[in-house]
Amino acid sequence: MARYYTGKELIKISKNIQYLKGIGEKRAELFKKKGIKTVEDLLYYFPRSHEDRSQMKEIADCAEGETVCISVTVFSPVRDVRVRKNLLISTMVVSDQTGALNVVWYNNRYVKGQFMTGDEYILYGKITRSRGKYEMLNPVYEKKGSERFTGKIVPLYPLTEGLTQKILQSAMEFAIKEAGRLEEYIPEDIRKKYHIAELNYAMKNIHFPEDFEHYNIARERFVFEELLILQLALSSHKGVNTERKSVKFTDILCVREFVKTLPFPLTGAQKRVIKEIRADMKRTLNEILGDCKSGRMMNRLVQGDVGSGKTAVAAAAIYTAVKNGHQAAMMAPTEILAFQHAQTLDVFFKNMGINVVMLTGSMKTKEKRLAYEMISTGAANVVVGTHAIIQDEVEFADLALVVADEQHRFGVEQRARLAAKGNNPHMLIMSATPIPRTLALILYGDLDISVIDELPPGRKPVKTFAVGEKMRKRVFAFLEKNVKAGMQAYIVCPLVEETEKSDLQNAKMLAEKLQTIFPDFKTGLIHGRMKPKLKDEVMDGFVKGDIRILVSTTVIEVGVNVPNANIMIIENAERFGLSQLHQLRGRVGRGQEQAFCILIAHGNNEITKKRMETMCISNDGFYISEQDLQLRGPGDFFGTRQHGLPEMRIANLFEDRDILALSQMAAKDIMEEDAAMITEKYKRLRKRCEKITADEIVMN
Ligand code: ADP
Ligand code: MG
Repeated sequence: MARYYTGKELIKISKNIQYLKGIGEKRAELFKKKGIKTVEDLLYYFPRSHEDRSQMKEIADCAEGETVCISVTVFSPVRDVRVRKNLLISTMVVSDQTGALNVVWYNNRYVKGQFMTGDEYILYGKITRSRGKYEMLNPVYEKKGSERFTGKIVPLYPLTEGLTQKILQSAMEFAIKEAGRLEEYIPEDIRKKYHIAELNYAMKNIHFPEDFEHYNIARERFVFEELLILQLALSSHKGVNTERKSVKFTDILCVREFVKTLPFPLTGAQKRVIKEIRADMKRTLNEILGDCKSGRMMNRLVQGDVGSGKTAVAAAAIYTAVKNGHQAAMMAPTEILAFQHAQTLDVFFKNMGINVVMLTGSMKTKEKRLAYEMISTGAANVVVGTHAIIQDEVEFADLALVVADEQHRFGVEQRARLAAKGNNPHMLIMSATPIPRTLALILYGDLDISVIDELPPGRKPVKTFAVGEKMRKRVFAFLEKNVKAGMQAYIVCPLVEETEKSDLQNAKMLAEKLQTIFPDFKTGLIHGRMKPKLKDEVMDGFVKGDIRILVSTTVIEVGVNVPNANIMIIENAERFGLSQLHQLRGRVGRGQEQAFCILIAHGNNEITKKRMETMCISNDGFYISEQDLQLRGPGDFFGTRQHGLPEMRIANLFEDRDILALSQMAAKDIMEEDAAMITEKYKRLRKRCEKITADEIVMN
């Protein structure tokens, strides 16, 4: 049994940090910028690294280039020399039993007068050499006997303007001391089973570890905790109960008729996935013989790279549902996409007596009413639409299958609402975001996953180039050549408009600029802040070919199909996640012409180089997403966010796969023991899970 602290009064961890020693109202505002409001928030603000100041050295043993900790006596106090207007050099001489050393600070107005001859100090700094003599540069210093941040392993935190390491370090020290014993969230039996350290021990050692072994044990605990809470939160938000029974289709071989009518032979991968879907839907022999255990509803995710032919697979499933006498619905995240799907299905189902009806928010009331009517009477066999499908007014006669396209744009709640429209209809979710297994396990632990890992034959991979700003002229010349030849181009920018703070390329200005450079071609602009109607108009102009160059933000990311567009230029490509770049690139290469993707990247750091290289050498979405996770920098907001997960505080989904597996087992244990987590044992853990809202988990 976990025992909770009942001892003497200590500060509450829910208390505002403003009341912590050393933090006033003003500083509290700065902390707030980092999302830190309470003492608990502060404690969970983990260091990004540690500095090992625990190894004490003697002056005689110090070598050039080392960063060391020394215990010294002040020999001659600080003297300032102003070399130039903006260069102040302060020096002092210190000594220990083995020798003397010059200590130098640059532009530090505060050190003068701090030290008296004979004072004993601990210094921590880098040893350099100047005119043949060793010196210590810009050290951290503390009076001997009152060391707090020297002589030990010291945490370094991600900073924000106005906050220094020292402020954070001392705030953290007070918080740990004054918060006293923290109440544990993870029940003891689970900690024992999975060898997870206790909260108080872990909290101390994640910030102020005695050595790195303790730190690692502490870190493991918080990684486990973070992933466990995430899994538990996800399972409580997963609106769809897969154990539910659903409609079973008697005739599942009818899909063969449909496949025969397609204008192309299916790829092996498409065939395999259709088979998997068929197996989900069919009434099994066991059932016919009266075993009621089978027949659970289909809850399947189909992952396939852009252009892998997911629509045909969805159509096959829809066909099966309709031929078995039921209705099917297909939901898309935007009106344009819904319209494209409706068109595609119309072509697929031509002369088959299948009635496809559209339902979107922008339809006139009269049109909507007609659609409602057809849906409720069953005259509509297939309904294709946007979120409008899940409005209360919509009633289905007999909904047996729901296909949700590009599911990562859909909230789990929306999925659940759509499911509630029928009698537990089968759910088929199509995603064009190939995600690494680790993420798939977290996000879709409750779904069966099918993968279309093969592109239709004859596809030419998009040729990708990464270039710097210097190449812009040539890029525009190339753009002009292609557009003159009748092709179309996308240009994606990270920003909508100019901002003071950022010199990133913005769509508005670039669109204007391009229109002046290429007055003969119509340039369009599209971004998320535009009214939906205007957005649709612009997109329509591009689909029809009136607009030749479309400048946009990432709003075009999702599934739009314009086969005549063969160039994708991405500005500030270094700012996008690799999976996102891959998605964007997938907008081209859908027609006969060779397609090109040009990544204009700024900055020359190693990670950027590697990321751009990955894009140039690979067209495989799964490979790219693995690399993305691996090359993800700390705090990279495109990293996990684009998959719809909250930003990880401490877990690295790539490196911590082992702990992830453990946390998954633990989550399963808990779900089996007390799924709602209502017992006293899980009360505190449940509260933590509730903090992760559905909004945080699901993007958009
Ligand atoms: P996505 O998986 O991105 O949704 P689509 O379903 O839109 O891909 O398919 C992309 C294009 O490939 C469409 O024009 C579609 O007709 C075509 N296509 C799909 N399957 C095949 C196939 N097996 N052979 C040839 N072309 C195919
Ligand atoms: Mg698609």
